[in-house]
Amino acid sequence: MATASHQTVRSTPTPATGPIQCRPWCEDGDGHPRELFAEDQCCTSVEGRFVVSREESWLMVDGSTRPASAAVCAGQRPGEAAHVAVVTHNDQGVTLTPEEARVMARQLVHFAWVAEQGVALAAADRAEAGR
Ligand SMILES: [Zn+2]
Repeated sequence: MATASHQTVRSTPTPATGPIQCRPWCEDGDGHPRELFAEDQCCTSVEGRFVVSREESWLMVDGSTRPASAAVCAGQRPGEAAHVAVVTHNDQGVTLTPEEARVMARQLVHFAWVAEQGVALAAADRAEAGR
């Protein structure tokens, strides 16, 4: 059985040569002039964060608890196209193209409906969810 593999190739960091032109939605918007390496001059939007009630709450140092959460934001690394990042409370996540994010959003809405209905999906519904 063939398995998919993914390997991240890291090269030697490139020294930053000054501020970059930030994306209009960049939360910083200053060109990231304090980053030492060009690879760190990444634009990130304001995030949308929401509580994930089915995950365990976080125990804080002071003994209090904080509900688990997840966040979604737009980002762009130098030399790459803009992306959408989904990050969970335990720093796991996925980086998506805008179109992949739209597919994920449609599937989330669809399967939320399925979970609430408690009905089996017909083949046509599964195909529709995949669009
Ligand atoms: Zn920026």
